[in-house]
Amino acid sequence: MARPILLAVDDDASVLEAVVQDLRREYGSTYRVMRATGGQAALDTLAQLKTRQEPVALLLSDERMPGMTGVDFLERARELYPEARRVLLTAYADTDAAIQAINSARIHYYLTKPWDPPEEKLYPVLDDLLEDWQAGYQPPFEGLRVIGHRWSLRDHRVRSFLSRNHVPYRWLDIAGNVDALNLLKERQLDPEQLPAVLFADGSSLVDPEPDALAARVGLSTQAAQEFYDMVVVGAGPAGLAAAVYGASEGLRTLVIEPEAPGGQAGSTSRIENYLGFPSGITGADLGRRAHIQAARFGAEFLTQRATGLRIDGQYRFVQLADGREVSSHVVLLALGVHYRKLEIPGAGRLTGRGIYYGAALVEAVACKDEEVYVVGGANSAGQAALHFAKFASKVTMLVRGEGLSVTMSKYLIDEIGRTSNIVLEPKTQVLEAVGEERLEALKLRGPQGEYQVPATSLFVFIGAAPGTEWLPPCILRDEKGFLLAGPDLRAEGKLPEAWREEREPFLLESSVPGVFVAGDVRHGSVKRVASAVGEGSIAVQFAHQYLAGF
Ligand SMILES: Cc1cc2nc3c(=O)[nH]c(=O)nc-3n(C[C@H](O)[C@H](O)[C@H](O)COP(=O)(O)OP(=O)(O)OC[C@H]3O[C@@H](n4cnc5c(N)ncnc54)[C@H](O)[C@@H]3O)c2cc1C
Repeated sequence: MARPILLAVDDDASVLEAVVQDLRREYGSTYRVMRATGGQAALDTLAQLKTRQEPVALLLSDERMPGMTGVDFLERARELYPEARRVLLTAYADTDAAIQAINSARIHYYLTKPWDPPEEKLYPVLDDLLEDWQAGYQPPFEGLRVIGHRWSLRDHRVRSFLSRNHVPYRWLDIAGNVDALNLLKERQLDPEQLPAVLFADGSSLVDPEPDALAARVGLSTQAAQEFYDMVVVGAGPAGLAAAVYGASEGLRTLVIEPEAPGGQAGSTSRIENYLGFPSGITGADLGRRAHIQAARFGAEFLTQRATGLRIDGQYRFVQLADGREVSSHVVLLALGVHYRKLEIPGAGRLTGRGIYYGAALVEAVACKDEEVYVVGGANSAGQAALHFAKFASKVTMLVRGEGLSVTMSKYLIDEIGRTSNIVLEPKTQVLEAVGEERLEALKLRGPQGEYQVPATSLFVFIGAAPGTEWLPPCILRDEKGFLLAGPDLRAEGKLPEAWREEREPFLLESSVPGVFVAGDVRHGSVKRVASAVGEGSIAVQFAHQYLAGF
């Protein structure tokens, strides 16, 4: 298989040689390093590579070149290789142009010259970028295949699970696909019983439950120990931050999460306002990085759902969906929120068959050149619309209010304004989802009255609710189910009866000592990645204080 390519571009022969040597030294065994002496020559090279279907991972271009600037080259190169990481090499004086280029040419990073020593200034940046590229790269494929129906909820769940856990697979839609039928026949599988997951070793799973699939693709579903210092429930930004800090500070930490680490952020196409990522980072990349970081410090991850919490003296037992339980002194509830369902006729029947909650990024490719509807007017809806606009011919945003200005951040509104295939339908409500086997049309009510539009995909972002009903009543919550912690436990100056300690609850401590709460699930929390990360890390400090009392 051809090694992916790193392309360096500079008109100055000695600089180009130095860059190429540095790239070869570090990446030569995994990547092929190529060079071009100008923007046009580099575009010609890329066009040839494209015809030969060769993968390009990174473009590293100098800014000041005669004929075509680095920014112009990177912008044009994006049309040929949109997924390649784009890095601008620039003199200090051109820093402003480089920052502008983050928006205009969507460059991923700029490096100022000189980049010596590369071990400090070049490789760490490129390592990160190449890791991100690798995560989305699907090499010519020998491995796992999923055969199913585009309009099946079960199929959608299997594909989402694999994607979110970064398990590479190829999906084959059974509809009219002779290859898919032949593959099923070879393995003596029934085309009526789908989805089927086919493994490279000849084995297969038919319509698997998530835990069976998790175990088969090598995700852990059983805890290695019986007792932990801290059990974190939920691996969104809050839980992952707690896992990184807890494990790095020596706490035996177990994280329980039925989905891939990343939480809601994992379904986010691009987080642009998280500190330290000037050109944004996808939620999946953030989740993957944090997961690796926490695991490196020794945190253990279980692909399981927590279904109960039992308190026995100083021990806390978290019950798991498979009937087992794990015990600890400290539990951190970082459960986040889940999407509110659309309460209209047809929505239940057509969920996963054209109606999707959350960005369901896995569906984006299936919507290629189709018209897509997005309902909701907050940031999450805006990000999804921008993401789908890259694949769909048209994205229509259905918004109840007059417009987006009250509910959405300005940077997203501006970007939507610049995207010609996104159309906004203000003061519009969805009344009914029409279709039997799959979504076929939407009944809407807008300023012009009621009308029906043909539709195949509707992505829903109409707010979120906490999933806290499985917790025992001694964990106090507000009327919407968000968990109370710290000062919020004091209603009218008194602590709840459930609180039996002499001391006041710590800042993020729930109504049960040693059970902490962080992130979106906490009453009054700011619904942002940075706040969740902050709370997850602060909770660990209180966990230490609580444990010090033993
Ligand atoms: C589409 C979208 C775009 C967004 N864009 C931005 C943005 O650009 N910038 C920004 O700052 N914020 C953004 N947000 C908000 C941000 O993602 C959240 O504020 C953040 O993810 C909250 O983190 P959390 O860890 O508290 O919860 P979550 O991210 O919700 O994670 C909670 C985790 O807990 C798990 N869980 C729940 N119940 C259980 C259980 N019983 N057992 C085990 N695990 C369980 C869930 O599976 C989930 O993975 C966006 C949100 C969405 C939906």
